[in-house]
Amino acid sequence: MFGYMGTIARVDLTQRTVAYEPLNEDTARAFIGGSGYGTKIIYDEVPGDTDPLSPENKLVFMTGPLTGTSFPTTTRYEVCTKSPLTNMWLATSSAGWWARDFKLAGFDGLIVEGKADSPVYLWVTDGKVEIKDAGHLWGLDTDQTQEAIRSELGDKDIKVSCIGPAGEKQVLLASVMNDEQRAAGRGGAGAVMGSKNLKAVAARGDRKVAVADEAALREVARRVREAIKHHPVVSQFTPYGTASLLEHSWVSGDTPNKNWAKGEWREGCEKLNGRTMAETILVPHPGCHGCFIRCARWIRIKEGRFAMEGPGPEYETICAFGTMLMNDNLEAVCWANDLANRYG
Ligand code: SF4
Repeated sequence: MFGYMGTIARVDLTQRTVAYEPLNEDTARAFIGGSGYGTKIIYDEVPGDTDPLSPENKLVFMTGPLTGTSFPTTTRYEVCTKSPLTNMWLATSSAGWWARDFKLAGFDGLIVEGKADSPVYLWVTDGKVEIKDAGHLWGLDTDQTQEAIRSELGDKDIKVSCIGPAGEKQVLLASVMNDEQRAAGRGGAGAVMGSKNLKAVAARGDRKVAVADEAALREVARRVREAIKHHPVVSQFTPYGTASLLEHSWVSGDTPNKNWAKGEWREGCEKLNGRTMAETILVPHPGCHGCFIRCARWIRIKEGRFAMEGPGPEYETICAFGTMLMNDNLEAVCWANDLANRYG
């Protein structure tokens, strides 16, 4: 089937077994995209009264038909599970590079079930999934985990989706993190991963996604790029990141100032917004696979208490560590963002 690799891996961590199942083409058509297919699996296989942090819950990593192609904004994967935060269905997604490598390793999705009796990680490459020991990785932050796996497997281009100490400790809002601090950050999917003793899923792939009509795909991608370039909001993501939303939201009174208790805080928002970041600490960054928007920020704070270089904050992080607390120190927000991402 065009757009798909045709295989979903199923890993039972309790039994330490790996099985390979064919993609269900009817499901792929009826529930198009990673969140649709992943949600169908959770709906079919996880009873409503399942404890989200028990071995009976399942964790599904799922890509969509455009993942791994050059179509803009499609380098994403969905993590579907039952959320320990809401006790309801959860689909949370992340961009970066991991989804591309996972899919081009030969898989549309991965279903993780059961619980390992000690920490493990999964190594996905060339149509195979291996279960590997992760005892030595337990306790590492999300950046350290990625680096340690790349070094252990001897390939600096391996992409890693993992949890940090927050996921290990099953903090109910823990994220699944990949690449340069990209996050599947909603609903506590990281806690579910931690409850299964699953530290990471490492992937490396260079297969190709079969496309029915390459020329037509290129033409649609061109039109999408044109539309985005002229979109009043999304066009601002390239120069100013999602932090540009702060300029829209303070005008409309929608910024969460002082934990939503204050309507307008113009002077604070002007110190925290994407324009200020671009004029002070932003450095060029290549962004996610195949996406020309390049909304992800990379920042360098040369000196002082918050000196650092690395991924910069998104709109919601600026609100969480900035406007919600009436903190207008952008460098402090960047530092807190880095810490939160490393802990997962
Ligand atoms: S650069 Fe931004 S818009 Fe493009 S895929 Fe990454 S997160 Fe999405």
